[in-house]
Amino acid sequence: MSDAETLRRLLRRIDRRGYKSYREIEGAYSVGEFTLFIDRVQSDPFAPPSKVRLRIPRRAARLPEDLAEGKIRRIALSDFIARKVREGIGRLPGVRRGSGKSGRIFIDAGGQEVLERTSIILTEDWVEARMEVGLPAAGRTILAREAEELLLRDLLEAGKYGLLFDASREREARKFVYCVENQEFIRSKLQERHLVAFVADGSVLPRKSGASDLPMERDLAIPFRSPPELRVEFELPNPLSLEDGSLRHITGMGLPEGVTLIVGGGFHGKSTLLKAIERGVYPHIPGDGREYVVTRPHAVKIRAEDGRRVEKVDISPFIGKLPGGVFTKEFSTDDASGSTSQAANIIEALEVGADVLLLDEDTSATNFMIRDARMQALVSKEDEPITPFIDRVRELYEKFGVSSVIVMGGSGDYFDVADTVLMMREYVPLDVTGKAKEIAASIVTKRRIERTEPMVPPAPRVPGPESISASRGKREVKIDVKAVDLIRFGTEVIDLRHVEQLVDISQTRAVAYSLYLTVRRFMDGRRALSEVLDLLERAFDDEGLDILDPFHRPGKHPGNFARPRRHEIAAAVNRLRTLAVKRK
Ligand code: ADP
Ligand code: MG
Repeated sequence: MSDAETLRRLLRRIDRRGYKSYREIEGAYSVGEFTLFIDRVQSDPFAPPSKVRLRIPRRAARLPEDLAEGKIRRIALSDFIARKVREGIGRLPGVRRGSGKSGRIFIDAGGQEVLERTSIILTEDWVEARMEVGLPAAGRTILAREAEELLLRDLLEAGKYGLLFDASREREARKFVYCVENQEFIRSKLQERHLVAFVADGSVLPRKSGASDLPMERDLAIPFRSPPELRVEFELPNPLSLEDGSLRHITGMGLPEGVTLIVGGGFHGKSTLLKAIERGVYPHIPGDGREYVVTRPHAVKIRAEDGRRVEKVDISPFIGKLPGGVFTKEFSTDDASGSTSQAANIIEALEVGADVLLLDEDTSATNFMIRDARMQALVSKEDEPITPFIDRVRELYEKFGVSSVIVMGGSGDYFDVADTVLMMREYVPLDVTGKAKEIAASIVTKRRIERTEPMVPPAPRVPGPESISASRGKREVKIDVKAVDLIRFGTEVIDLRHVEQLVDISQTRAVAYSLYLTVRRFMDGRRALSEVLDLLERAFDDEGLDILDPFHRPGKHPGNFARPRRHEIAAAVNRLRTLAVKRK
């Protein structure tokens, strides 16, 4: 391996040459205790930045050994370190060094959620930050002195700030890792305690604004307070505070399995609670306010999404014969309606293992949710293809073990089918189950149940690999992800605006490249989508997320990926307009 001096000499030699000469610095250099890898040099100052890595032995970094033990801690600690490197970059004096992306330093680090990602790798021996830099140029002429400052001073400084531990950093890391591990502990207990979600007392659920994921200021937000009837407790593996190691006891609301209704007046905090539960499938950073809102991992938000494509989904449990005699056991459309899209979203979620459905009246099709007595009297069942959700929700739970949490301020007909009714009043939840049941008994609904045939589990669909192509023009794979909710996949656009549990653009990137990877490795025209996803998830566990990069050279910088759930990958497959499936 070369050293820093070699890199300096190389840089001075190519000073003022054309940008392509930067290629000569690709390689590995030992710089003090660090190793700097320059994996891939960008083609010009405006192209995607160059990929570099900084590696240091764990011992030299004084990495707290116990915080790197086991998968959950390793993910949490890596996530923490990525944030610290980003903080280190932010502390650098903001100098620009020429055209395009010249002088930029970037690391992929998270927002409010803690995710497994490729930007930090922790092995038994070392820790590595995968970063990107814009190699400096004036026009297309190499600026070697600036490059030297960038690579051997600034990058290193950010690396030292993020990767080296002292007592106070260790303390901060410990707090972070403990908090994540506590959340995962609660998640691992939900099923055996027959709960779908836990919302800790004192949680701050509302956000700063509709456009921000940051918590509302503490003095404005009403902290969460569990209703006594639903209060549960957990003994946590780690203390809640490092100051008081005995503080391991947490209380909050346990939402039971079954059918839960969240009611209450407009603007009283119903959707805010549901949103927190949706996001609770991921761990959150300390200070988020929702760090102890924990949801079962296979809870899926279901909403209406008119205009989406649907490919051979059996929506017949919800939608019977359509005008023109359209067959709904294998329903396909290029332009779904509100109700058919919502039905398809449910069946697709069940197909890949959802066990909790989360619905909000704000984003549901009314005719999908309910048909009241008067409407039943006017429009006969023969003229209405829809079996509303209210007539399937109990069956979903009793027959398939699938629970539902439904925000519904507009229809008391749901009292009949709910196991738990929660009322939000001025942002505080009350258990009003008893009262709702009394009302249901005294004001009898005149609506008739519309279920005709019993529901059967969705038939597995087999995606055809030839229907999923990432190629565009001369390129075999051309995938662009410019926003968290939009993928350009080959010549197709995949619209994920209504896939609400996708939270990070690096997850979206991982979703996009997962499609390509599954086509090459797991889809064979015989395996059902859920089997393909099983194999993909196992490959992530065994080989890491680095395998997502189709041009990946083992050990090199793979690009920025964060782990998505199977549900969001399935959502992207299902929204690809070219998808063709057959039934197993
Ligand atoms: P709903 O769905 O019942 O109509 P939302 O959940 O949309 O109501 O909340 C309405 C408003 O109240 C939002 O602006 C939200 O940020 C705010 N809000 C929600 N929960 C709280 C809380 N606990 N403390 C303070 N404000 C809150
Ligand atoms: Mg609402």
